[in-house]
Amino acid sequence: MHGQLQKVKCPLSGKNQSWLKDVAATDLCHCCKTPQPLRPDIVWFGEMPYQMEQCTDALMQADLFMSIGTSGQVYPAAGFVQIAAHAGAHTVELNMEASRGDFAEGYYGPAAKIVPVYLDTLS
Ligand SMILES: [Zn+2]
Repeated sequence: MHGQLQKVKCPLSGKNQSWLKDVAATDLCHCCKTPQPLRPDIVWFGEMPYQMEQCTDALMQADLFMSIGTSGQVYPAAGFVQIAAHAGAHTVELNMEASRGDFAEGYYGPAAKIVPVYLDTLS
């Protein structure tokens, strides 16, 4: 949903392409009549994340929703827990500290420690 580091896109057409080196201000697209400076194909603050429909579909079908290592403060992702819970998923937060999200269950500490502990409870 946040894009791909190994791609760039044209800011005008939105077309993206594979790009495995740094993006320079002199790197231009080949898709526009007036070539545009390329930018990383990453969603920046204020832009709509990619594949929101697929994200929502997955949230609506989930039995378990886990939020790992996030402040839960940036929308639209911050609203994922409500969508999943409303659709019937069990919601779990694994984080350094409790966020403002309304989770059914929470485990707090470094993800490297608490994620394996939580996964053990599932088996
Ligand atoms: Zn272009």
